[in-house]
Amino acid sequence: MEKIKCLIIGSGPAGYTAAIYTSRANLSPVLYEGIQPGGQLTTTNEIENFPGYPDGVSGFQMMEDLKKQAARFGADIRPGIATSCDLSQSPYKVIIDGKKQIETEVLIICTGATAKYLGIPDEVKYGGIGVSACATCDGFFYRKKTVAVVGGGDSACEEAIYLAGLANKVYLIVRKDHLRAAKIMQERALNHPKIEVLFNTNTLGLFGEKTVEGAHLVKYAGTPQEEKFDIAIDGFFLAIGHTPNSAIFKDYLELDETGYIKTQGRSAKTAIPGVFAAGDVADPYYRQAITAAGSGCIAAIEAERYLAEIPC
Ligand code: NDP
Repeated sequence: MEKIKCLIIGSGPAGYTAAIYTSRANLSPVLYEGIQPGGQLTTTNEIENFPGYPDGVSGFQMMEDLKKQAARFGADIRPGIATSCDLSQSPYKVIIDGKKQIETEVLIICTGATAKYLGIPDEVKYGGIGVSACATCDGFFYRKKTVAVVGGGDSACEEAIYLAGLANKVYLIVRKDHLRAAKIMQERALNHPKIEVLFNTNTLGLFGEKTVEGAHLVKYAGTPQEEKFDIAIDGFFLAIGHTPNSAIFKDYLELDETGYIKTQGRSAKTAIPGVFAAGDVADPYYRQAITAAGSGCIAAIEAERYLAEIPC
């Protein structure tokens, strides 16, 4: 068992920003990188909307830079996944890789969220070369091109509308005969001249020589009207929801119906004193690298204040 002052779980922009701030505040943070070291951004080709990189930067490079910056101030960055925890009393206990126990005075949870994929092999084959789960991150590369968005919720409509501002044409592939999004979002998507909504349609696969050139689709699958057809596209966007990586905390923290950790107001505080949540695991709305970094900073400042107020 190891006793520490500050434990950060997760190595996306929230985790590393929390590590930079807490190490500079002499809290000697230990950061465990989690399942995907560097977080979701490591799978993004190029980031052009993070302030301070006028020529853009690869997701991998940005996460390497953030890691280096945290290490420079003494953050102890380790490989390992938090597999269970006991937050019933302070100091809080977290088990790493099913065996190592850490006892910590403050815990900053930055475990992120994982975009859902359809589960077809072509999504992996064309990952980063035509397949994306983030229109805001990658839409710019499809200016004046044709793209498809899968999903029928608010995210799918929002991403389709966003992409329609850049691309020449957007297919919205919806598995049911209706959209689930809010009425106003539905109307905007359905009435947009560049968006064609394909209801009752599922994706069978993708094709293309080097990058995505099209999708194999099926309408009314499994019924007598079943019809298979192809569409020509340059990009394939998933917008079928995200899963916040909060499962190990569910017995202790309040989660919303999707599993996002609830924080108090504009802060990163959870209902447990000394336990903070930042980044995508607590953010169903913005999901941007810059907002995650900002919330990691908030969590770190609050952690520092919390420790300063605890009587010795
Ligand atoms: P949702 O869970 O609301 O919607 C997911 C969509 O993806 C549904 O249409 C669902 O279809 C479809 N889907 C799921 N799995 C598959 C699959 N395997 N194949 C094809 N389609 C699939 O997720 P969102 O990310 O859209 O929204 C999450 C939350 O965030 C919601 O509460 C939403 O309101 C909120 N949000 C709000 C925004 C805003 O207010 N501006 C913007 C974005 C999100 P089906 O309907 O058939 O189940």
